[in-house]
Order: sequence, then C-alpha cells, then structure tokens
Amino acid sequence: MLLYNSLSRQKEEFVPNEPGKVSMYTCGPTVYHFAHIGNLRSYIMEDILDRYLRYLGYDVNRVMNITDVGHLTSDADTGEDKMLKGAKREHKTVMEVAKFYTDAFFADCEALAIRRPDKVVPATSCIDEFIRVISELIKKGYAYEAGGNIYFDTSKLEQYYVFHNFEEEDLEVGVRDGVEADGNKRNKADFVLWFTKSKFDDQELKWESPWGLGYPGWHIECSCISMKYLGERLDIHCGGIDNAFPHHTNEIAQSEAYLGHKWCNYWMHVLHLNTTSGKMSKSKGEFLTVSLLKEKGYDPMVYRFFCLQSHYRKSLVFSWENLENAKVAYEKLLQKIATLPKEGSVDEKVLEAAKENFRKALDNDLNTSLAVTAIYDVLKLDTNGATKRAALADFDKVLCLRLLENAEKLETKDETLAVDPAFAAEIEAAIEARKAAKAAKNYAEADRIRAELLAKGVTLIDTKEGTTYRIG
Ligand code: AMP
Ligand code: ZN
Repeated sequence: MLLYNSLSRQKEEFVPNEPGKVSMYTCGPTVYHFAHIGNLRSYIMEDILDRYLRYLGYDVNRVMNITDVGHLTSDADTGEDKMLKGAKREHKTVMEVAKFYTDAFFADCEALAIRRPDKVVPATSCIDEFIRVISELIKKGYAYEAGGNIYFDTSKLEQYYVFHNFEEEDLEVGVRDGVEADGNKRNKADFVLWFTKSKFDDQELKWESPWGLGYPGWHIECSCISMKYLGERLDIHCGGIDNAFPHHTNEIAQSEAYLGHKWCNYWMHVLHLNTTSGKMSKSKGEFLTVSLLKEKGYDPMVYRFFCLQSHYRKSLVFSWENLENAKVAYEKLLQKIATLPKEGSVDEKVLEAAKENFRKALDNDLNTSLAVTAIYDVLKLDTNGATKRAALADFDKVLCLRLLENAEKLETKDETLAVDPAFAAEIEAAIEARKAAKAAKNYAEADRIRAELLAKGVTLIDTKEGTTYRIG
C-alpha cells in the first residue's frame, strides 16, 4: 500500500516496524466545544486509514488523546487555555465542559460511522508521565526554565523544521494571533512544556510539579500519551494539516530528543474543509456541526459520502449545494442497490476481481473517490445480485456508508407505507411551493418547507428529473 508521508513529501510503500502490526496515533479533539464538520473530515479520513489497514489484515492498535488541558487560543503558547474559555462561556467547571464535549464528540463519530480508537486518553489522566518526560528533557539539556515556565530549546536540534518549507517567517505566522512575543524564549521557535506563569492566573486545573504549581503545554501530551501506550517506535501519526506546524513539529522535537532515535515513520495529514470564506474553525464562533446537518434533513452518512468523494490531500469546499448534490447521489445509489435481487449464489471469481479494483484505489494513497467509483463499477457488472451485494458488503467494511443497510430500509418503507391521497396531495403542493422558492432563490423558505415535511415524516429526494419523496 502506498501512503503519502509528510516527512518525505512523497508516496511511500507502507512497511510497519513489526510485520503484521500497526501502531497508529491520532490527535484527538480539544473538548471545549462541539467538533465542527471540518474536524470530522479529518477523523473520517483517518477512520478510512484505520479500517483499511484492518481490512488488509493488519493488527492495528490505535490511540487517541482528548485535549482537556493546555491548548491555548494560539498554537504558539500565548492566550488563554481553550478549556477555560469554554468553562467561562458556559458557567461550568472545566471537567464538566470536557465531559460534555467528549461525549458529544463520540456521539458525532458514531453517527458518522467513525470507529472509536482502541484507547482514548484524556491529557489530564497522564500528568505524572508529562512531568517525568519533561524532567528527562531538562536532564538531557533539551529544556530550560525561564520566568517560571519550562521551554524546549529548539537550538539543540540539528533540524527542527522537519515538515517541508517552514522558515522563520512561517513561525511568525504561528504567533500572529499572540498578543506579544514571549521574552523568556531563548529562540523564537522554542515552545512551552510546562506553565507555572501565565497571564491567565485563573487557570482552573493545576498540578504540583518540580517547577511549581502549573499545567502542561499542549504538545507534550501527544508525545507522552503516544510513547506510553504505543512504545518508542510509532508507525503512523495522523492529524489535520494545521497540526503539522507547530504541533507535530514540536512533538517530533521533544519525542526524539527524549528517545535519542527516530520516533514515527509515517505522518498522514488531512487537508482542510473550507467554507467559501476560508478555513472552518471553532474559534470563528459560527460553525457547522453534525446536529445542524441532521436538523437540515441530512443523514450524517451523506456527509461521510461527501468526504469520501474527494481525496484527503486536497482541500474540500463545503457548501449546502455541494452537500445537496452528495445527498442526491447517495440516495440514488441506495435506490439502485435496493433493486438488486438477492437470489443466486456468489460468483467468487467476479467478486475477487471487484475487490481487486477496490483495493487498487485504496492502495494508492487511499484514493477514496476511486473507491466510491468502484461501487458504481460493481452495479454495472454483468453478474447476479448476490455477487454485487457481496462486493458492496465487502467494500463497506472500509467505506462504512451503510449501503445495504440503508437500501434495505428504503425497500421496507416502500412496501409497508401506502400514502393517504389527501396527504399525497399536500406533499405534492409543498414540493411545488419549494420549487418556486428555489427558483426565486429564497433558499431559507425552501429549507423551511423541507424541514416542515421532514417533521411530518416525509423526506424529499431531489433528482435530475425532479423531486420525489419517501415516507419515514
Ligand atoms: P482541535 O479539536 O481543534 O484540536 O482539532 C481536531 C482535529 O481537527 C485536528 O486534527 C485538526 O487538525 C483538525 N481540523 C481543524 N480544522 C479543520 C478543518 N477545517 N478541516 C479539517 N480538519 C480540521
Ligand atoms: Zn496532538
């Protein structure tokens, strides 16, 4: 399998440290707010990698942290702790906020068929480990104390900027939203391992340490949690592209300084989901969530399908129109699958060829859009329904689009629910009104009509030929 490695900036044959086994680490969410669908794009694409490795027969051990302390409003060690900001906003304690949004995150993951990592570790559960590793870094001369904080000394490294062209100016970009430069730093790129002094003295969670009462920096948590649960040699580390610098750059710096050897072999970065006005981010306040998609009548599977239609190394633009197109395509696909006969026995030769076509797509740096095309290729095959169904069930072990399951639901609904003629006329009238609203570019009204019908148990399906509906 070829996987693009951000370290070498090229596709490489994936070879794990231990044959047949894969250790995988994912940067988890900062649980001060709901995850937006941009965050979830990263988790969906990482899920594909996780599931595909399992599909290939690897024994995958995947660990993810939950950031519940230390992630400041600027990735460059300035600003307020995001968790504290969330707690103040909601008049709750930091731990209450962390619990609420951790649960909300996993509920979103479930709705999107994102597999829960084997081990999920909140940062606050590993403070002793952070203190131990930071002490070791100080002992080895890679860290220093200044103004009450402990910093990593980047000048001690042969190469700090490991991910492509990061130069000093890029670091300036990293600190642009900081109020002022931190005068304690010996070098511009140095970063905080442990805070005891911060302008925000009301930091709620603090722990005793050899350097005083304080709290960890954000970067040290991922290094320590990964090394604690996955050992000294990690196969794959993933995250969104904004994590490459400074977060992952700093993770590599401190892990390799601590270990004295190379730490992680493959770095997978998912490009951003953007809106038409730029990167989607939690700090912008207004952001799209899975709940909002549901409110607007979109099955979360439609969003997963939308993400899989494009490659993870290309940024993806979200618009309601694009999502609507994905919805139409997904529903049409389900309708086609629903008509597949179940009789007959599986033609193993044809099935194997279909699987090969599917693997070819994912073996090439997880080309999910070609993997989706492989679904359509199956539907076009000159073979019986049983063979087609078997191929789709196999692909869905990785894609998890609930193809057969949701097609089955369509079938049973169609069979069991006959529509009362007066109700049918009411639906047709609403469809006409919505069409007129759309023609007048009154999308709010069109959405309202869709939502109103949905509340009555009617799901509209837009196709090239016009709008139809489904009850339920
Ligand atoms: P956070 O909760 O902010 O720590 O981010 C969780 C994950 O989402 C990280 O892997 C980020 O790199 C990723 N991420 C943040 N914004 C986006 C976006 N607009 N598109 C895709 N991934 C994102
Ligand atoms: Zn991380």
